[in-house]
Amino acid sequence: MHAEVIAIGDELTTGQRLDTNSQWLSTELGLLGIPVLFHTTACDTLEAGIEAFQAAVSRCDVVVATGGLGPTADDLTRDVLAAVAGEPLELSAAALAAVEARFARRAAAMPESNRRQAMFPRGSRIIPNPDGTAPGIDLDVRRPDGSTSRIIALPGVPSEMRMMWRGTVESALAAMQPDAGVFVHRRIKCFGAGESAVEEMLPDLIRRGRDPLVGITAHEATITLRIVARGRDRAECLTKIAPTEQTIRDCLGAHVYGVDDDEVEDAAVRALAAAGQTLGTVEIGTEGRVSACLAHAEAQRQMQLQPHEPAATVYRGSTVLPAFAGIAHDHSITGMQALAERARTEFKATLGLAIGAARPGPDGRSVVDIALSDGQQIERIEHMLGGGPSLALSRAAKTAIDLVRRTLAPRMAAP
Ligand code: AMP
Ligand code: MG
Repeated sequence: MHAEVIAIGDELTTGQRLDTNSQWLSTELGLLGIPVLFHTTACDTLEAGIEAFQAAVSRCDVVVATGGLGPTADDLTRDVLAAVAGEPLELSAAALAAVEARFARRAAAMPESNRRQAMFPRGSRIIPNPDGTAPGIDLDVRRPDGSTSRIIALPGVPSEMRMMWRGTVESALAAMQPDAGVFVHRRIKCFGAGESAVEEMLPDLIRRGRDPLVGITAHEATITLRIVARGRDRAECLTKIAPTEQTIRDCLGAHVYGVDDDEVEDAAVRALAAAGQTLGTVEIGTEGRVSACLAHAEAQRQMQLQPHEPAATVYRGSTVLPAFAGIAHDHSITGMQALAERARTEFKATLGLAIGAARPGPDGRSVVDIALSDGQQIERIEHMLGGGPSLALSRAAKTAIDLVRRTLAPRMAAP
């Protein structure tokens, strides 16, 4: 079984936007054991769309497309599919009700153009979209020789596309494989080392054809190692995953902070709760990123508390200061300790975390000073800012938050 990925949109063919959907989908298809033979990008005309889908249907068993499912006049994917399948567009009452309900929840009237999003080529299966108005289309197209090619059309909005893939498409395509079996994914999350450094720490795990397969991706300085096992059932997959996960944990030590959807801040508040500690913060020039991350993680943790667990808030609060208001502070160890102590005492916490304003560092780069104080000892980091302005700040914030986790887990010292 082979696949083709089609990306649709003038914004892609004119170069205004990078086609990241095809990259993501191809990785996912690969994980399902479905090799991708072609990537096609087509503009928003009916002719280009029809030509692209006809070629794809003739040469691949599965065609996954994104874009052009919106309500506006330039969103033609449904018309293209109807033409390629030789089927009329029909209104789905269920899909129309879902689109209407979405507008009703926002107390808005549904524009007439959105009705189009409830039209499907006859014979389609509808792919629900929990996060937007455009449902996806799942359609078998018959070839001249009587065989079929399956088209999956998803919206272009990357977050909706991914959610629909996870919710519906992934399992539907996995079920098409003759020796079906199941796939189990486990993501090991790391922070504090770059992608290539992490790869070097691991024995030859990231190679094609390995079972289970290990992939590596980086996002905002968080490195994810994704382990994918294929087996007869979930239990067999988990048995295959366990030794690989152990190898990763052994090699990466304290860089590993969690699994699956964990963020660094989730690990930090968990570590605080487990150690019976509380935290106050003061941040200068990070636009409240530390406080926003910790507040979110703490809210999540509170929601997931078991009845027997103490409900006390471990993240106590934050002072957020802009860097440009002429706020001068002492970057020395004692200065940073004083700032961290201010955070600790102000919020009546056991630990105080301070992130200082960026200052000029060596070789023209900026440095952010980070300090964590428990009233006696101080942990300090001089963090070099890197990447674009927004990424640099969020990395600095995550580095500060990660210092809390690392300090509270001394047994997991870095290798
Ligand atoms: P559409 O579904 O065509 O209305 O696209 C909705 C949004 O998703 C637009 O902002 C597009 O720029 C974006 N988008 C569409 N296709 C892609 C793609 N292949 N990769 C990344 N973003 C995309
Ligand atoms: Mg579009």
